[in-house]
Amino acid sequence: MPLDLVLRGGRVIDPSQGIDAVMDVGFENGRVAKIGGELTGADIRDVSGRIVTPGLIDLHTHVYLGGTSLGVDPVRLLNGGCATLVDTGSAGPGNYAGFLAHVIRLSPVRILAFLNVSFAGIYGFSKRVMVGEGGDLRLMAPIDAVETARANPDTIVGVKVRVGMHASQGSGVIPLDIARETAEEIGLPMMVHIDHPPPTLEDVLARMRKGDILTHCFRPFPNNPSTADGGVRRAALEARERGIIFDIGHGMGSFAFKTAKTMLANGFLPDCISSDVHALCIDGPAFDLLTTMSKFLCLGMGLNDIVRAATESPAKALRRKDLGALKVGGVGEASILAHREGAFDYVDSTGERMTGDQRLIASGVVVNGRWWTGSNT
Ligand SMILES: [Zn+2]
Repeated sequence: MPLDLVLRGGRVIDPSQGIDAVMDVGFENGRVAKIGGELTGADIRDVSGRIVTPGLIDLHTHVYLGGTSLGVDPVRLLNGGCATLVDTGSAGPGNYAGFLAHVIRLSPVRILAFLNVSFAGIYGFSKRVMVGEGGDLRLMAPIDAVETARANPDTIVGVKVRVGMHASQGSGVIPLDIARETAEEIGLPMMVHIDHPPPTLEDVLARMRKGDILTHCFRPFPNNPSTADGGVRRAALEARERGIIFDIGHGMGSFAFKTAKTMLANGFLPDCISSDVHALCIDGPAFDLLTTMSKFLCLGMGLNDIVRAATESPAKALRRKDLGALKVGGVGEASILAHREGAFDYVDSTGERMTGDQRLIASGVVVNGRWWTGSNT
C-alpha cells in the first residue's frame, strides 16, 4: 500500500523521542503512518541533506491579520516552516469572535491563542500610535475572558497579560494579578510579557505559577534576567526551580545577544524559542522563528536543544500532547529545514549586529499529511 507522502532520506530530529537519525517518514490520511527505511508513496520528496523535525511551533506570534494593526499573515509564517502558530494576546474577549471567524477558521496552519485579559486585546500598536492595553484598568475583563475561554476550548490555550512601562504604563502588577486569577479560574496557563519596570522582574516572577510562561525572557536591560557581573538573577534561578517556563519572544525590543550570551554561559538555556513576530518586526529584527533559532545556533546552543525548544517544549507548555512529536498515528506535520554554513548577518532588538556561521532555512512543511505547496488545494 503506497503512502500519500514520503519524506525520503532526511535527518530526522525529534528530541521528544530521542531521535536523531537518517530515515524516511511516511504520511497517510493526514497522519504520520510509518517511520523507518525505504518507504514508498504517491508523493515522494527527496529531503536528503535536510533536517526533518516535528511541525515547528512558534509559541509567540501575532496573526490577527486585519483585525489588529500588529497582525501578520499566518500563511507567511507557514511558508516559513511553522505548523502551529500561537497568537499571544492579539485578541481579548471583546474581539475574539472576529479572530476566530475571519482568521483562525480560514487558516491552513493551526492557530492557537492566549486570550488577552484586556477586553480589546492589543488595540493600539503601530509606529505612530502606541497605547498599552494594560494601562487602562477599565479594560480588564476577567469575567468575559473566562466566558470566552470556556466557549472556545479548542483554540484558547491560556491567558495573556502584558505588564511594564510600555504595555501597562503605571498599572504595575495589577493586570498580572487579574490575569492570574482568570487563569486559575479556567485552569489554563498564563503568558506574561515584561518590559521596562514597573513592575520589576522579581515582582513578576513572584506572582507566576508552575507552568506559566515568561516571554521576552532574554530581554535587554532593564528587567533582564542576567546580572552586570555575568551571572543570573536569583529570581530567575528560583523561578526555573518552581517550573516557570522561559520563552524567548524576540519581537521588536525584547531580545539581546548580550543577555543571551550571559545566560547561555551560565547554562541557563531558554525552554522555548519563539519569534514574537508582528507587523513592526517581521522585516527585522525578529523576521521569523527560524531566524530566531539560527541566532541561538550561532550563539552556541546545540541543534537538538534548539529543535526541542520549538517542538517538544512548546507542546508541553501548551499542554498539547498531540503536538511537537513525529509519532506513528500522530498529527501529520513536519518541518523540513536546510542547515547552511557561511557568513550570515544577524541583528538583535538593541541594534547589535553579529556575523554568524550558520543559518536554518525553511525548505518545506507538511500539514495534514500533505506537502504544503503554497495554496489550500
Ligand atoms: Zn507579542
